[in-house]
Amino acid sequence: HRERLQTIVDIPSVTKDGREVNLSANIASLQELEQALKQGAKGVGLFRTEMLYMDGTTWPKENEQFEVYRSAAQKLQGKPLIIRTLDIGGDKQLDYISLPEEENPVLGYRGIRISIDRRDMFKTQLKAILRASEYGNIKILLPMISSVEEVRRAREVLELAMQELRASNVPFNGHVPVGIMIEVPAAVAIADMLAQEVQFFSIGTNDLVQYVLAVDRMNEKISHLYEPYHPAVLRMLKLTVEAASRQGISVSVCGELAGDADALPIWLGLGVHELSMAGQSILDVKSRLIDSSELNGKQLLERLLACRTSAEMKALLHSGGSDAS
Ligand code: PEP
Ligand code: MG
Repeated sequence: HRERLQTIVDIPSVTKDGREVNLSANIASLQELEQALKQGAKGVGLFRTEMLYMDGTTWPKENEQFEVYRSAAQKLQGKPLIIRTLDIGGDKQLDYISLPEEENPVLGYRGIRISIDRRDMFKTQLKAILRASEYGNIKILLPMISSVEEVRRAREVLELAMQELRASNVPFNGHVPVGIMIEVPAAVAIADMLAQEVQFFSIGTNDLVQYVLAVDRMNEKISHLYEPYHPAVLRMLKLTVEAASRQGISVSVCGELAGDADALPIWLGLGVHELSMAGQSILDVKSRLIDSSELNGKQLLERLLACRTSAEMKALLHSGGSDAS
C-alpha cells in the first residue's frame, strides 16, 4: 500500500472534476519537515512551536528560535510556513514556569492567554518569527483565540516587536499575514467579527470538538463521546467557513480531522481548499482526493447537514452517497 502511495507523491492534488486542494503538513520539528517534504507537502500549515520551549530549562532565546524558523523557511523554498505562537497549558506544561495547579487546565491558563500575559516572552518569539520572514513565505498563527480583544492585544505586541526590529535596522516582512486558530466555540460565534481582524483562519478540530461537545480530549473514560462526526461540529465548521468567505479571507483546517480521508467530502462540500495534517497522512488523503469529485462533496454535504446522529453521518460518508435515493 505504502509503495503504491509513493507513486502519487509528485502528481497534483486535484479532484476528478478539477478542484485543487492544497495538502500541507503539521510539524513540530525540522526533522518532521524533512519527512513531510518527502510526502509531497505543499507547505507547512501548522508549525507547533511548543517543542522549542519544552526541550530546554528556560525560555529559548530569540536567536535560537530564529535559527529554527529560518531553517524551516529555507527548506520550504517559498512554500508557505505557518508558525503558531506558543500554545502551552492544558496538557502541555513547561517546568521552568510554575503554573498553578488548576481545577480545569483545559479551561485555564493556556495558549494566547499566557502569551498576552507574558508579553516579553511573546515579543521574543514574534521577533524571531519576523526576522525569519526575510527568508521565506512565513505567516503567524495565534492559538486559542476567543475574543476580538485577544487578537488586538496580540497585534499590539507584534507592533512592538516590529518597532524594535526597525529601530535596530533588522529586516523583516512588514506585511506578514496574521491568522487565528478557530478552536473555541466563542470564536465560531463571532467568526464574522474576527474575520475583519485577521488575514486567515485555521480550524483546529481537535480542540473545537473538545469544547463544542464538552468532552476532554485526554479523558479516556469519555473518549467514546469525543466524536468529530457530530452534527454540532459540522454546523460549527459551516459557520466558520461561511464567515471567512463572506469576509474574503482564506480558511484551512489543521486538526486531526483534516488528515482523515473519510472527511474529504465535508471539505469539498464546504469549499475548504487547504488541509494541513501529519506528514504520514498526506498520501492517504491525496489518494482519496484524486478519486473524489467536488460535485459529489457538495451533494453529500447537503445530506450530511440533515443527519441527526453521528451514526447516520458516518454511514453516509462510508457509502460515499452511493445509496442516494
Ligand atoms: C487543534 O486543536 O485542532 C490543533 C491543531 O491544535 P493542537 O492539537 O496543537 O491543540
Ligand atoms: Mg488546539
